Amino acid sequence: MKIGIHVSTSGGIDQAVDRAAELGCNTFQIFVSNPRGWKPTVLDESGIQLFKDKYQAAEMTGAVSHSIYLINLASPKEYLRKLSIDSLVTSLENTGRLGLSGLVTHIGSHQGDGLEMGLDRVCEAIEKILDGNTVTTTTPLLLENTAGAGNLVGKNFAELGEILKRVNSKHLGVCLDTAHAFEYGYEIHTKEGLEKLIKEIDQTIGLDKLQVIHLNDSMTDLSSNRDRHEDFGEGFIGKKAMIRIINYPALKNIPFIMETPKLKSGEAGKEFIDEIKSYAK
Ligand SMILES: [Zn+2]
Ligand SMILES: [Zn+2]
Repeated sequence: MKIGIHVSTSGGIDQAVDRAAELGCNTFQIFVSNPRGWKPTVLDESGIQLFKDKYQAAEMTGAVSHSIYLINLASPKEYLRKLSIDSLVTSLENTGRLGLSGLVTHIGSHQGDGLEMGLDRVCEAIEKILDGNTVTTTTPLLLENTAGAGNLVGKNFAELGEILKRVNSKHLGVCLDTAHAFEYGYEIHTKEGLEKLIKEIDQTIGLDKLQVIHLNDSMTDLSSNRDRHEDFGEGFIGKKAMIRIINYPALKNIPFIMETPKLKSGEAGKEFIDEIKSYAK
């Protein structure tokens, strides 16, 4: 299986590869820019080369980057949409330069203006980002589903499918966060519920568009709409269901990336990842 966690780039972007390798990961996710600020990080060529050399030497594939947290492509405020577009363009370029497989992003909130208006703004923004005159890279932009709180766009696959259909770009895909799906209300803790979701994904976006999975368990219950990650098997989705997810035939070859408390703090490490790997049939 392709398994990884979100790793820090502190001390140099190449250090991310070392950290992932130490944990026994064969893929990972990074921020290519400080996630809490608009100012893009400038990547120099030598740093990029070092990263690529290590990535290749470690025989890793499928690693992705994650956008900054401030992104809102659905915002009523035009300047915020503009800042979001510019940030995603820069991050996409950097993701491409690093040779990564995609840039995962949150979509944003329409802040009460309604889903339709939100979708219009989002599609217009994504068209601008992916316009061949704006970005030179073909690295895909991957939209992440949300837990369904407030006015966030992208809580289910009908919404994500609508965006993909309208934008119609081969450089646009989707990242499924298992915690968010469960928190929204997809019953992925049961065999039938998981099958139903996979079917829905196939019918709305097409399974080939599902390019990354955030393999997070949930600290909150089904339909809570509250986004709280928990480590594999230790949350409301539970171990049995998480094992079913990593072994589900249609998902097996997609990179699984964990963004969970103990892995992030270092409280859980290689042993925990080895244990998860041992469940993969
Ligand atoms: Zn995310
Ligand atoms: Zn989350």
